[in-house]
Amino acid sequence: MSHLQVCTRCVLSSSFPRLTFDNQGVCSICREYDRWTSGWNSKLPQQRKTLEKICAGAKNKHKEFDALVPYSGGKDSSYVLYMAKKELGLNCLAYTLDNGYLSENAKSNIDKTCRRLGVEHVYYRFNSDLMNRLYALFVKKTGYPCSVCMRAIAVGIYKFADMYDIPIVIQGTSLRTELPLSREMAEHGSLPHVRAVLKGEPIAAECKRVLCDMSIQRKVGHILFRLSGRKNPVTYAWFNLAEYIDWSYKVIFDTIQRETGWTGSEDTEHMDCIIHPIQKYIQNRRFPDLDLDRLRFARLVMAGQMTREEALRKIEKPAEQCPDSVLKLFLNNIGMSKDEFDNFIDMGPRHLHYNSPTFIEKIVRTVFSSREAGKY
Ligand SMILES: [Zn+2]
Repeated sequence: MSHLQVCTRCVLSSSFPRLTFDNQGVCSICREYDRWTSGWNSKLPQQRKTLEKICAGAKNKHKEFDALVPYSGGKDSSYVLYMAKKELGLNCLAYTLDNGYLSENAKSNIDKTCRRLGVEHVYYRFNSDLMNRLYALFVKKTGYPCSVCMRAIAVGIYKFADMYDIPIVIQGTSLRTELPLSREMAEHGSLPHVRAVLKGEPIAAECKRVLCDMSIQRKVGHILFRLSGRKNPVTYAWFNLAEYIDWSYKVIFDTIQRETGWTGSEDTEHMDCIIHPIQKYIQNRRFPDLDLDRLRFARLVMAGQMTREEALRKIEKPAEQCPDSVLKLFLNNIGMSKDEFDNFIDMGPRHLHYNSPTFIEKIVRTVFSSREAGKY
């Protein structure tokens, strides 16, 4: 690590792809973060009013549910569910993708939270044999299996939102407190990517629903919502709650423990998925100097929710490794030996080779180039 330059403000190092440093030693992501979040706190009261207007609009549609909340059982989405139901008065449907690897702790949190808040909840589980074969295919072709779940989560959102004609979808991903992984590190399961990987594969015939897209009405609704400056859901809207309210982990953690009985460690990310450490395994093998914890703490430092000293102290400890039992379970289920798996990982981030947006998707990407903001 000694040969790497470390940002003087956060803890990112020059091992992060394309990171540059200014003459004060501050990294380009810190500088971008400053520009992006400047004036944010003074806009909060106005944002809260906008949020309430959006929610009133959804309630006025008098649908069976006002909002769909994709619910992993983790702390962010538990907070979204609490806020949506109790603070914003929305009649919510919570939905969880069960990828077959949900932890008992996540299931217990989901059960407790939904009962305490009085929220209806559905699990969506794809055929687990099919999921495992998809993970295997993605490992072979791209070296990165997580796109399968990302895609499956999106499919569930489209399906349930359409089934009950739910006007808004509320997520809890905060780019203010979570650093997006660079494109070399992760792929988010976009439709063009998954379509490109499945192209010409026999398995594609079995998983048409994996390739399902958002309905045209919802797409148009989404475009209208964006054109209104994320203020007016003319028909449908899909947004991150973190864009409208303060996103302080201290408040989030205290609130969900008190109000929903949520249990778990403040420090652990994605404890809802048993095989989540596989991502860490891939990351550590491919980018030995770029531990995911360092990225997580760096963003919390940028957000003022952790001091740089605390972050440095935490990353001094040897990074947590993917437990052997998790790797064994995953490899056994996808029918792959460890040597084969390592070999596929060592072939580099091949997910970058699979990205074939259609003409219309290219136009949407160009028009809404701000969508790419905050992606590295
Ligand atoms: Zn920095």
